[in-house]
Amino acid sequence: MTQTVDAPAARAHALPTVGHWIGGHPAAGASGRRGPVFDPATGAQTRWVDFASVEEVDRAVAAAKAAFPAWRATSLSKRTDILFRVRNLVDQHRREIAALLTAEHGKVPSDALGEIARGLENLEFACGIPQLLKGGFSEQVSTGVDVYQLRQPLGVVAGITPFNFPAMVPMWMFGNAIACGNTFILKPSEKDPSASIFLAELLREAGVPEGVFTVVQGDKVAVDRILEHPDVAAVSFVGSTPIARYIYETGTRNGKRVQALGGAKNHMIVLPDADIDMAADAAVSAGYGSAGERCMAIATVVAVGGVADPLVEAISARLPKVKVGPGTDPQAEMGPLVTRQHRDKVASYLEGAEAQGATIVADGREHPLYRDSEGFFLGVSLIDEVTPSMDCYRDEIFGPVLTVVRVPTYEDALRLVNDNPYGNGTAIFTRDGGAARQYQFDVNVGMVGINVPIPVPVAYYSFGGWKASLFGDLHMYGPDGIQFYTRTKVVTSRWPDPGTSKVDLGFPRTR
Ligand code: NAD
Repeated sequence: MTQTVDAPAARAHALPTVGHWIGGHPAAGASGRRGPVFDPATGAQTRWVDFASVEEVDRAVAAAKAAFPAWRATSLSKRTDILFRVRNLVDQHRREIAALLTAEHGKVPSDALGEIARGLENLEFACGIPQLLKGGFSEQVSTGVDVYQLRQPLGVVAGITPFNFPAMVPMWMFGNAIACGNTFILKPSEKDPSASIFLAELLREAGVPEGVFTVVQGDKVAVDRILEHPDVAAVSFVGSTPIARYIYETGTRNGKRVQALGGAKNHMIVLPDADIDMAADAAVSAGYGSAGERCMAIATVVAVGGVADPLVEAISARLPKVKVGPGTDPQAEMGPLVTRQHRDKVASYLEGAEAQGATIVADGREHPLYRDSEGFFLGVSLIDEVTPSMDCYRDEIFGPVLTVVRVPTYEDALRLVNDNPYGNGTAIFTRDGGAARQYQFDVNVGMVGINVPIPVPVAYYSFGGWKASLFGDLHMYGPDGIQFYTRTKVVTSRWPDPGTSKVDLGFPRTR
């Protein structure tokens, strides 16, 4: 009997697999569970990624725990030296990392290189660790008594990261975490896992000792084990709001320190006196850059008063010029979405918006690549006359869809932003310094841009939203990152001074 060969199944079987990185070495998955990784520009599966089991996470934590005592005892100058080398290797290999991001996330090379540049800023910040870990000293708090404060690492800490910044978000975390003397376990997104292993190889080349940086690939099984493992001291998370809430609640219930950054719905207020061209350029750049798959993307333009008509006209005039295409096309400015499922969900909001009474000014489903390509493409979309009750306003769409809400006054615009459950980023476009200052004072959002549409803080400030965009007390990276990855110890000291010692059962006083 002739045996039939299922060609696509055989091809899929033969694809390479992205594994874990444990104890300073690649580790093939042993769970028997894995997921597909796609090239979003072609729609083809290109790899598999292993999904860690509970036992594999336990092995990774054990390796990280074993590495901790020697790493925390490594001198600050040696740690700094290694971090400088990590920084330089990431810089040298930025094009290879960018190629991995394009291949699995779909973002175009210029955008991928921008992601790496912002990640590098965080590594540069971590290179200043000797200065950042300085404690405090108070001499003679009582006669012959001094008090000083130290910052010490927590132990094994973990980072769980989203698909949309597969290199930068890990760099938000691991530079500071290991600079502070912790050992770090990364659980990257299963949608674009390859950059994590490339980074692990660079860290090894830079001299990061075995077990100090670990990668476990996987899904909820790996995440849940990290959240309940008694030897994981802290968890940094970036992702969607429902998962961020779950991570925060579960991690803190298990006694861990947790910072969990969630989703967003970022508003850009445009006042009547704004420079229309500048505002339209900003709305298009921040709405459609990275196909809208940025947590700091502008989702909603809030047009105040008479600015609405000329602004919508200026934005729509720019849309036909946005070049959508694969990252292999040097002209392409916007790539595909990450998966077919996500692309279809984003597209469904256009249908819903129309049914709910909004005006579709530009429809991304009309783009030829949406119709004809196997890739996960969607053109740029603009929806006008949106109201706060519509799904396209209420939900985080996370795609190349810009919505416009028209309001009569600044007060209405402010109320809209402050009533929104998310509070990640926002921007105001105006020529009026007083109005901008008032907005910065009034708005309940963690990161504010004044004529700057994507106000991602530089690495020596910290990144974080308010409300449903962040669960926890400390923001990510920068000074808050150092605080998150260390705990303070206060030492009160006195040296023997013959003749001054006596028995005193009273509570110690300084006066
Ligand atoms: P996601 O929440 O689906 O996944 C994030 C991480 O959580 C991944 O590693 C994933 O494997 C894991 N995960 C997913 N479901 C889980 C579950 N049920 N239990 C345990 N772990 C689970 O997010 P995503 O789709 O990868 O990323 C996009 C989202 O991230 C958007 O909402 C975006 O706004 C948000 N984001 C926020 C920021 C920020 O700084 N606030 C930055 C980037 C992305």
